[in-house]
Amino acid sequence: MKGYAPLSDEIINALVNALGSDCVIQGREKCIPFGEDAGEDKRVPQLVVEPTCPEQIQELMRLADRHRFPVTPRGLGTGLAGGAVPVFGGVVLSLAKMNRILAIDRKNLIAVVEPGVVTMDLKQAVMAEGLFYPPDPASLDTCSIGGNAATNAGGPACVKYGTTRDYVLGVDAVLPSGEKISAGVRTRKGVVGYDLLHLLIGSEGTLGIITRLILRLLPLPPCTMTIAAFFPHLDTAMDTVSRVLAEGHIPSAVEFLDQKCLALVGDLLPFENAVNSGAFLLIETDGMQDLAQREIEAIGSLCVDCGASEVLLAPDSQKRQRVWEIRREVALRIEDASPVYVPEDVVAPIGGIADFVSRLPELEREYGMSIYSFGHAGDGNIHLNITADDPERRAMVDRGIEAVLRLVVSMGGTISGEHGIGVAKKRFLHLELLPESIRLQREIKKIFDPKGILNPGKIF
Ligand SMILES: Cc1cc2nc3c(=O)[nH]c(=O)nc-3n(C[C@H](O)[C@H](O)[C@H](O)COP(=O)(O)OP(=O)(O)OC[C@H]3O[C@@H](n4cnc5c(N)ncnc54)[C@H](O)[C@@H]3O)c2cc1C
Repeated sequence: MKGYAPLSDEIINALVNALGSDCVIQGREKCIPFGEDAGEDKRVPQLVVEPTCPEQIQELMRLADRHRFPVTPRGLGTGLAGGAVPVFGGVVLSLAKMNRILAIDRKNLIAVVEPGVVTMDLKQAVMAEGLFYPPDPASLDTCSIGGNAATNAGGPACVKYGTTRDYVLGVDAVLPSGEKISAGVRTRKGVVGYDLLHLLIGSEGTLGIITRLILRLLPLPPCTMTIAAFFPHLDTAMDTVSRVLAEGHIPSAVEFLDQKCLALVGDLLPFENAVNSGAFLLIETDGMQDLAQREIEAIGSLCVDCGASEVLLAPDSQKRQRVWEIRREVALRIEDASPVYVPEDVVAPIGGIADFVSRLPELEREYGMSIYSFGHAGDGNIHLNITADDPERRAMVDRGIEAVLRLVVSMGGTISGEHGIGVAKKRFLHLELLPESIRLQREIKKIFDPKGILNPGKIF
């Protein structure tokens, strides 16, 4: 263990005495599942702590601070960047059992939750009250609100509603020293002091452990309308997206699939020839029935004007589910079909998506890889699924990934819109951030965590 001694029996006993044996998991076999997320990196922790209250987390961090052992926070382990992987061993702090929805306050339009609440459970609980929590990562039935806040998760609804950051009003967090802070507010606004809340959001568990969240809710839109549009070429589809947005429409989702993706989900498409299309757009509007309907009709007409070969309305929730299944199924099929599979999630400027995607075939040829593109066309967040059919080509593919990331940065984009840096992308940080920015961020980390015990080995 680099710079960290293994936990001695004495420290483990102190942990069990301070926290109670119920929340300490020991033994390699039991710890293995806590050593990986949905990415490629793995490392078995020496033990796992599963607290049920913030005071136990404070006790753990006081001991970690005293004996200098690493602690890696973990939500539900669906991250794609290795953020929850304990790269130096030590303790994994699983927040899964702190999963209570503490309050849904209709009058103030807020929810107060523990970090381990599954995102879908919260969305359904507030929906039952006629309220709406918009963030919708594709993993929503298996990821946690705390993990979403730590990674600033987004999803299809971002184009209209923004990311998790826009819905967290305040948090309680435990610092690496074991001290507790509250950051943010319970109100709709607040500008008192530096914005520590938004420093914690998206910090991938490297600055503090989020133990409670105050979330902003909206009234539930009464109606959602969906269309599926097929285009002969990707650039016509992307030009359509630019036009839809430029004409003042604010769809609640604009998802796209390229031709390669369509070929993988041919059996799910609504008509036989759809598989020969160059691109597919799934567009939704929501709001009051007449407004959502009028807006989707206007967007449908724009699609036809811009050259869509087919525009289909999903008139009921069953048909809507079928259209979404096309979008959801594609990632699984790409992964299943490819011995080498690396999911990247770059963001290109909206007006530059078609240009960016059109430059990928050259890189595919140069680096012997095959790239399947789909994702959130409305905000430029393109999921590039980089694949190769021979594991021996992995090193070359890695060079190809770097070339793709350099390209997106050179076009004014960013190397990650959702997944974060974790361990998987830390070697690429310098492609986007200037040395002075990285230095400043390292200094911030040192202020929060001078002993380097909270989630070490991530981001930098
Ligand atoms: C099939 C699939 C689809 C996905 N789709 C999307 C998508 O559409 N949009 C998107 O943004 N992401 C997506 N992801 C990635 C992932 O689901 C998100 O990053 C999610 O927010 C992670 O939540 P989690 O609870 O699983 O966190 P984990 O993976 O357990 O942890 C993620 C990071 O957060 C930190 N962390 C977790 N909980 C806390 C806490 N309470 N306090 C401090 N730090 C904490 C961890 O240390 C780690 O760095 C997808 C993943 C999969 C497998």
